[in-house]
Amino acid sequence: MKGKPVITRSTENGVLKVSITEQNAAQNLPQVIPVTTTTPRAEKPLLVMIDPGHGGKDPGAIGNEGTYEKHVVLHIARRLQTLLDKQHGIHAVLTRQDDVFIPLYHRVSLAHQHQADLFISIHADGFTNDQVSGASVFALSEHGAGSAMARYLSQSENSADVLYDNDFKTDDQYLKETLFDLDQHETIHRSMNFGTHLAANIVKVHHMHSPHPEQAGFAVLKSPRIPSVLVETSFITNKQEEKLLGEPVFQEKMARALADGINSYFINEKKNNLLT
Ligand SMILES: [Zn+2]
Repeated sequence: MKGKPVITRSTENGVLKVSITEQNAAQNLPQVIPVTTTTPRAEKPLLVMIDPGHGGKDPGAIGNEGTYEKHVVLHIARRLQTLLDKQHGIHAVLTRQDDVFIPLYHRVSLAHQHQADLFISIHADGFTNDQVSGASVFALSEHGAGSAMARYLSQSENSADVLYDNDFKTDDQYLKETLFDLDQHETIHRSMNFGTHLAANIVKVHHMHSPHPEQAGFAVLKSPRIPSVLVETSFITNKQEEKLLGEPVFQEKMARALADGINSYFINEKKNNLLT
């Protein structure tokens, strides 16, 4: 396209259609290119990629009593997987099953390889002030999205051609960027919505450090198409919360809250025709 692209979207029977037309070309025949269409999936269960933070040589935050973030988050993640797998129509996969190191971008690629519908990274916060406590939920920030685009569109890793293989192929860098931008904006919006559903359920079992989802540039949230959040389940550097994190009862309560949040998000997405 020579001019500025105008993007329009419509949803029909659960199929999202995105059209790109050229601005100021209204008098001419509009060039409508169907770009991303999400085909309704009848049988396939919704796939949730659960990412226990850190692992292996990366212990994450360490509590004063010696509790490792990488261990407690794996316990919560496994419990969440069990709860989700019990439900009809949902399948949950972990990015790591054991105490192993996985690079951050590899966690995002795993979600893409599995064609995940959701990505949830589970952590336990650490801070120098041991009085700080509570859970937090993060989605990707716009700034983080900008750097993600640069990375994806570079040839080194996760090339955009891989992402758009089934839909659309183009050598036009500007069009590629526009498509990426469009996808990521939509995804951030859905991630924030997902975060709101999670926070609403976490607050029933634990107090929140901040009541609303926040935005940050975490690398694991940089998937352009999969709604992704990072949950800090509490502060491992806080004495009471370090104790809680080690307790199976708390781990199960937190996992249940996350499962409820995931369910409530899926129900909402179905209602809005964004899932089939
Ligand atoms: Zn962490």
